[in-house]
Amino acid sequence: MKKNQHIAIAGAGLVGSLLAIYLAKRGYRVEVFERRPDLRSQVLDGGRSINLALSNRGIRALEEVGLAEQLRATAIPMHGRAMHNLKGEITKQPYGKEGQFINSISRSGLNAVLMDRAEALGVRFHFNQRVAQVNLDTTTLTLQQNGTEKTLTFDRIIGADGAFSSIRLAMQFTDRFDLSQDYIEHGYKELHIPAGAGGTFQLEKNALHIWPRESFMMIALPNPDGSFTCTLFFPFEGATSFAALKTADEINTFFKTTFPDAVALMPDLLSDYREHPTGSLVTIKCFPWVKNKTLVIGDAAHAIVPFYGQGMNAGFEDCHILNQLLDQYQDDWDRALPAFQSQRKKDTDAIAKLALDNFIEMRDLVADADFLLRKKIEARLHELYPTQWIPQYSMVTFHENIPYSQAYALGQKQKRIMDEVMQRPDIATTWQTLDFERLVRRIQEA
Ligand code: FAD
Repeated sequence: MKKNQHIAIAGAGLVGSLLAIYLAKRGYRVEVFERRPDLRSQVLDGGRSINLALSNRGIRALEEVGLAEQLRATAIPMHGRAMHNLKGEITKQPYGKEGQFINSISRSGLNAVLMDRAEALGVRFHFNQRVAQVNLDTTTLTLQQNGTEKTLTFDRIIGADGAFSSIRLAMQFTDRFDLSQDYIEHGYKELHIPAGAGGTFQLEKNALHIWPRESFMMIALPNPDGSFTCTLFFPFEGATSFAALKTADEINTFFKTTFPDAVALMPDLLSDYREHPTGSLVTIKCFPWVKNKTLVIGDAAHAIVPFYGQGMNAGFEDCHILNQLLDQYQDDWDRALPAFQSQRKKDTDAIAKLALDNFIEMRDLVADADFLLRKKIEARLHELYPTQWIPQYSMVTFHENIPYSQAYALGQKQKRIMDEVMQRPDIATTWQTLDFERLVRRIQEA
């Protein structure tokens, strides 16, 4: 099929930049339009280091474009969760088997590496250019820069412009376009634990730290300079909420009583809390993702809440799958794109549900003795039957060949079996004597 097509990507975020690499490698002429300045030459986000968890689905895509090794060198492995209770005592829970871990990586560092590689392959990035309008019939973009507008026509347009996509907005005005947008009652705020003397880590380096407090939580991920980026997930409104913490006293007292061990490591808490924005958290679903010659991908097609650490990973998996389909259909986009959306939609719907469920697990259940026992029993089942019983977290995070929808369905079956097991009154003392083989057989029957 025609390889000299001219493709516009809206958004030079993580997904837009990765997709630009894939398409440039296939031989397409790619231009990326980004409304923000170039993050490689300007300090964005107030210079804060913001990190995120990269796991196997994302790594597979980075491997495919030849960047995994370079990025691994800058990432920090997190082997498990470290849960901090009100007394500052820490309980640890591994994420998977020995040798399985997720990676804390700098969002801007990763984005910069992707843009550098795309540029090296001939992709042209245009910064400070906002996509203001899209004509889905003529495949035309109207771009705004410093009050001036220009209109350009392409062979294909791809909207990788995030949760509030301008490309998706244009699709909303077309017939039979489904859209749902659901905010949760919590927002988030990024806070900071600086490095200790000599760049040392003041908390365990190789863990994702969680302060679960039932209806809300704080987490912290390590940065290579010894600091941690903390994120407080907290209700917007109510007795214990962003709205309720106004004065310096209220803020300090709340943190000292709720996260005492963390506060001791946060000298700039008050200014960080006041100056950093409060973000909202939304799940967005839409369909179709393709209208004529225009596609939405990544958060533009399926934004999810961050509690499974999968938003970017799912967006990177989108790029991997689209590339596979372009291989399969020999770059016949008119066949690849319908296949892409029909294959992918059920999986992104599944990870959206899983991400919402995981908020409850992280903020509440990880501090619960029954839940920890349940995880221990499942880990034993996995050890004994490594291919027949894979804990849901592992399926999602470490098994990139299991689609999200399958991980969801299997996880539901396993949950039903484990709910029964956990009903046994003496389970805490007798779990080692369970008939593990029978439990595994029941997955087939469930
Ligand atoms: P974005 O990263 O939003 O990029 C979109 C780009 O488009 C931006 O650069 C934007 O400036 C640009 N743009 C927008 N509108 C226009 C326009 N009109 N014209 C031109 N350009 C435009 N995911 C994980 O996998 N692991 C994690 O640990 C994780 N943690 C997270 C924590 C938080 C608090 C949040 C909010 C999200 C987290 N995510 C995580 C999700 C992840 O951030 C997103 O899934 C990912 O950034 C999506 O990438 P994207 O390129 O699709 O969209």
